[in-house]
Amino acid sequence: MFQTKGYAVESAESKFAPFEFERRALGAKDVLIEIMYCGVCHTDIHQARNDWGNSTYPMVPGHEIVGRIKQIGAEVTKFAAGDYAGVGCFVDSCRTCDYCRQGAEQFCRIHGVVTYNGTEMDEKTPTFGGYSSQIVVDEDYTLKIRQQENLAAVAPLLCAGITTYSPLKRFNVRAGQKVGVVGLGGLGHMGVKLAVSMGAEVTVFSTSPAKEQDARALGAHNFVVTKKPESIAALAGTFDFILDTVSASHDLNVYLNLLGLNGAMVVVGIPVTPAEVSAFSLIVNNRILAGSGIGGIRETQEMLDYCFEHNIASEIEMIPIQKIEEAFKRTEKADVRYRFVIDMQSLSAANEISG
Ligand code: NAP
Ligand code: ZN
Repeated sequence: MFQTKGYAVESAESKFAPFEFERRALGAKDVLIEIMYCGVCHTDIHQARNDWGNSTYPMVPGHEIVGRIKQIGAEVTKFAAGDYAGVGCFVDSCRTCDYCRQGAEQFCRIHGVVTYNGTEMDEKTPTFGGYSSQIVVDEDYTLKIRQQENLAAVAPLLCAGITTYSPLKRFNVRAGQKVGVVGLGGLGHMGVKLAVSMGAEVTVFSTSPAKEQDARALGAHNFVVTKKPESIAALAGTFDFILDTVSASHDLNVYLNLLGLNGAMVVVGIPVTPAEVSAFSLIVNNRILAGSGIGGIRETQEMLDYCFEHNIASEIEMIPIQKIEEAFKRTEKADVRYRFVIDMQSLSAANEISG
């Protein structure tokens, strides 16, 4: 067993505090990763605050993990000590159901083991995430990181990157297409970078006029402030694909109406309250409304390799773990450019100070 330091919340209302726990002893196929950086996903906020009503405590969030392999089990073949590695939103699954076999382990029919706020395959032992010093993961659920530098900016790819890459690939977004990205946050800004890299003409729909310059710097061709309804209505029927990353309730019909013939909108943001969709919003132009959940291991590795080859990473604000409360508050106010990433060295520094 490995004694591990982390930061946890004890309830939906409590503040983060230092928390010590044990990681399992290294199995034959396990790697021990010393966590260097962990991104702060809006899902961490939803779950820490029990927005979706399925939270268990104490909770150590974090599923955008990049670190260095410290030790490997006897039968590990993919990794060696010293390698950089990543861990995303899940750390195990049954491996035998048809979904796992197809590489959609995130939807495992038997038991998907999410990185935190879940249980191991025994369905009893709680999982703890990346706001911590180290993690033990089966090598089959560990991703290879080819980048050697700027690793903090790679961490958000493990969730924000794959969650936006997967639907863009599934709907074959390509050069010459008009793509909308709704919400310029952690997911949204990755969606912009990836869609631009695939050759699309990208429009950002944002509630924050101050983000226009950034959006253009990320490669977006157009920027629409969603607080002005008239600017949206004029775009009716002009988009091939729209990616909706908004974390709070909003009217989906507004964006569905922007889709042209056979256009598709994919929802990845997870507001607490259900959305109302008018049948007309879907019937006109034979529109498609779909959802998308992260991505499987194979596709996540494909996305990491794609980002490495296209020199794509996240725009980040690095914070010490002690600033996590502030990072949550700012993310909730859409005041993050564009992903907070925790420098996990701050964890050991804090512990040294406190003895
Ligand atoms: P984030 O960084 O907070 O970005 C969300 C963005 O939504 C904000 O930056 C803001 O962009 C916009 N927004 C916020 N409140 C809004 C409101 N009331 N009305 C309209 N727009 C608003 O969050 P994130 O980490 O990207 O995550 C986004 C959502 O995706 C969360 O709900 C998260 O749980 C979910 N998620 C889903 C998956 C999946 O597999 N499907 C994976 C990861 C995360 P502007 O300032 O540009 O308006
Ligand atoms: Zn996430």
